[in-house]
Amino acid sequence: MKIYLPENAKLIIDKLRNSGYSCYAVGGCVRDSLRGIQPHDWDFTTSAPPDEIERVFSEYRTIDVGKQYGTVAVLLGGELYEITTYRVDGEYSDLRHPDEVRFSDRIQDDLARRDFTVNAMAYNDYDGLVDLYGGGQDLSFGVIRCVGRPEERFSEDALRILRALRFASVLGFTIEPETSEAILKQRKLLGDIAAERIREELLKLLCGDKADFILRRYRKVIAVFIPELMGTFDFEQHSKHHNRDLYRHTVAAVHYVEPEPLLRVTMLFHDIGKPLAQTTDKNGMCHYKGHQKLGAAMTREILRRLCMPSVFIDEVCTLIRWHDERFKPETVMIKKYLKTLGADAMQKLMMVQRADILAQSAYMREEKLGNLTAVSEELNRIITSGECYSLRQLAVNGSDLLHIGVSSGITIGQTLDKLLDLVIEGELPNEKDALLAYAKNTIDKEQ
Ligand code: ATP
Ligand code: MG
Repeated sequence: MKIYLPENAKLIIDKLRNSGYSCYAVGGCVRDSLRGIQPHDWDFTTSAPPDEIERVFSEYRTIDVGKQYGTVAVLLGGELYEITTYRVDGEYSDLRHPDEVRFSDRIQDDLARRDFTVNAMAYNDYDGLVDLYGGGQDLSFGVIRCVGRPEERFSEDALRILRALRFASVLGFTIEPETSEAILKQRKLLGDIAAERIREELLKLLCGDKADFILRRYRKVIAVFIPELMGTFDFEQHSKHHNRDLYRHTVAAVHYVEPEPLLRVTMLFHDIGKPLAQTTDKNGMCHYKGHQKLGAAMTREILRRLCMPSVFIDEVCTLIRWHDERFKPETVMIKKYLKTLGADAMQKLMMVQRADILAQSAYMREEKLGNLTAVSEELNRIITSGECYSLRQLAVNGSDLLHIGVSSGITIGQTLDKLLDLVIEGELPNEKDALLAYAKNTIDKEQ
């Protein structure tokens, strides 16, 4: 079995070997190479202790990224490569790092501490593939299986529960029955895992090809750290627009949107406000007035708890707040929304709405999609045409108004806003003279 190693990888392995140590590419890069996918980074494992790694690469820049855990990064040709000493891990009682790491000089020890068989393979050109747990076979059958006894491995580090779901989602693999059973049985252990670690795995899981399947099959696991989702489980919507219960609709909407963290997270939470906002009319039909605002507020709490960056939170919450807005393909209306939300959010809203429609019943689907296409086309036309919808594009600014005698900051702001509305409504051309004349006239009248 031969894997193509880039020049820098060969150099790392050779330099350590020339100093009397063994070294292998390990983990994700070996897994991806065997799947015929170009690895996004290369990690190495070696018998050399951290001080020795630094010594061997003393002519290069090295960075201590976790020397106490055996990891030194080496900068080669502008890229960072992580090299970790073979180690045997103890328990993870702080749920982030093993309490005790023992360095070892045997590759077997290092592979034994790794999470799944497909991630526990090592390779160099001298020894070929080192696959002690049947990772190659699991890779070809598409199976996620713990190295060793699943229950033990999950109680050492419960993040592995979520990592199993992440790899199954991203790789489109099934989870081997014993591993799957342990995931469901021990899911509560995830409750103690640091939010930052959960966040990273969750975002990857959501962007996987099989996210929909995993989110359905393992919904109880997701609910350990997002209990708010439980309100959507088996929640009947009682509406012609829906043929799925709320959680299934949610998951279908996740599936139909592009695999971008922002969009996938938005879809996961877009209807989370519905159970609390539900009302029933005299015909037995249900309505969810205000679920957008409520959902945005709930989502803000959840994403804060998961330590998502605040810009990301704001963007998601804006999309959720407006996800159900009934846009029409009318220039003035779209420009008003552009003025409030900006071009980027509006374009993303189009994607959100499309995914939402696709996850609804067939009732009026063609009309809904047709309308959305018309709205998107008009939106894109406005954005590319350079027609004015924002203060930035307005032919006058604050200092122009100062010059004609508008003095207070508040009045300047209000006047600019009014002028922008008039331009958007087509009442005034976006030309400096016309706008200033109008502004002057208004001031004169007021004085
Ligand atoms: P990706 O392509 O997402 O980077 P990866 O397999 O490289 O996938 P990483 O999170 O970068 O995943 O971890 C690198 C390797 O370290 C894994 O392949 C696995 O062997 C090991 N590993 C990472 N986290 C754990 C863990 N919590 N428990 C055991 N082994 C782990
Ligand atoms: Mg990696």
